Amino acid sequence: MSSTLVTVSYIGATILFILSLGGLSHPETSRRGNTYGIIGMIIAVLATVAGPNVTASGYPWIIGAMLVGATVGLYAARIVKMTQMPELVALMHSLVGLAAVLVGFANYIDPAAAGAFKGAEKTIHEIEIYIGVLIGAVTFSGSVIAFGKLSAKISGKPMLLPGRHWLNLAGLLIVIWFGAQFINTHSVSEGMLPLIVMTVIALAFGVHMVMAIGGADMPVVVSMLNSYSGWAAAATGFMLSNDLLIVTGALVGSSGAILSYIMCRAMNRHFIAVIAGGFGTEGSAQAVGGAQAAGEVSPILAAETAELLREAKNVIIVPGYGMAVAQAQHTVYEITQHLREKGVNVRFGIHPVAGRMPGHMNVLLAEAKVPYDIVFEMDELNEDFPDTDVAMVIGANDIVNPAAQDDPTSPIAGMPVLEVWKARTSIVMKRSMASGYAGVDNPLFYKENNRMLFGDAKKMLEEVLVALMA
Ligand code: NDP
Repeated sequence: MSSTLVTVSYIGATILFILSLGGLSHPETSRRGNTYGIIGMIIAVLATVAGPNVTASGYPWIIGAMLVGATVGLYAARIVKMTQMPELVALMHSLVGLAAVLVGFANYIDPAAAGAFKGAEKTIHEIEIYIGVLIGAVTFSGSVIAFGKLSAKISGKPMLLPGRHWLNLAGLLIVIWFGAQFINTHSVSEGMLPLIVMTVIALAFGVHMVMAIGGADMPVVVSMLNSYSGWAAAATGFMLSNDLLIVTGALVGSSGAILSYIMCRAMNRHFIAVIAGGFGTEGSAQAVGGAQAAGEVSPILAAETAELLREAKNVIIVPGYGMAVAQAQHTVYEITQHLREKGVNVRFGIHPVAGRMPGHMNVLLAEAKVPYDIVFEMDELNEDFPDTDVAMVIGANDIVNPAAQDDPTSPIAGMPVLEVWKARTSIVMKRSMASGYAGVDNPLFYKENNRMLFGDAKKMLEEVLVALMA
């Protein structure tokens, strides 16, 4: 394939990626967006493999790598449960980071590249390698720790080293100093030491940054690592002089950054503070021990829940992570359909960080074919709770915790929440009194107008449905 054809294919792929991002911004167009992305990626891979930079001797390696990658990808896509998606995404981000590190080292030791650059070009090439490896290493280790935290293999509690901001600053200064050394070296063997030292510091920084983030701030970290993985891919594009990779990486990087910003606003956090790492953790120490909610909880049975729903005019359903665990979305929709047929106004309230990944609840509700026009963002219906007869909370906890508003020492203080306690009756469906992801007790459970429907969400909802039909 000629280089002109490759360029044309790359422009086509870029347009498809932009259309894909546009499509993915709304549930109704997301399938189309996904299709654009798939076609764009097929074009990108075919044009790159058939392009002038790949020689025939490279084909067996590329085909072998693609077979291994495709097998692992297909296997993972088949066995990974919806509830494990966030961990999978974190792992994928780590692979992008690792690829940037490996490409950087390979590029540096490549004997063909050594003679190809002279003077200013050589310096620019080395800066590309240095920055590419730096971003890649931070993305890799940060994502591995995020994977550990999301899969509960590592404690979700923040680990705060004394003087952590000074440690970060010292690391940054050392990285800059070694960067200058790296650019001034005259041979690959001389440059290896600064490159390796920087890689080790960057890996340590990634671990330190994500370990320092508290439970409720994890969504921001996940979207931030998504953004970093984009910049790592763009850096790889610079190292390989591949325009499409630069553009695609920049698209992922900037859309991830916008998502991080949106998440920060939703969580009432400051973007810069989260990037610096460890934000949102102050005060959590007191809160864990001190601000325990207490009191009596009022349990309710499935039949009584059905009775309340039957008598209601307005119902708001608030789904959370537990709905994903129980896979209760289809039963929720059956109940919704039944109530709507009886003239009850049923709506869904979605918190921006419900579940374990952005859009988690929207994906599940779309899968159950819940119409989009009854699914609302938190801000769109938070004011309607006082006029709501029943607020039904399905496997959600942190996102409906009034302590976020009432307790300034709480680790989730300041995070906007769905104010379900303002409804005439709120019903929380969960298996026990266990806390949610942020690990804090929930005073909602003890409120006078709140009822607890204990049990697996799917099982309990099936019982509610049977009672409604009776
Ligand atoms: P939470 O983790 O706060 O609460 C989920 C609740 O679901 C638990 O308290 C659990 O209680 C219950 N549950 C679990 N399994 C079942 C089941 N089978 N049936 C019924 N209930 C069940 O989830 P939320 O959605 O309320 O909040 C999301 C949290 O996750 C926030 O803290 C957010 O910051 C964090 N997070 C979000 C990310 C995102 O991008 N959306 C990413 C990373 C973290 P019990 O065990 O008693 O049943």
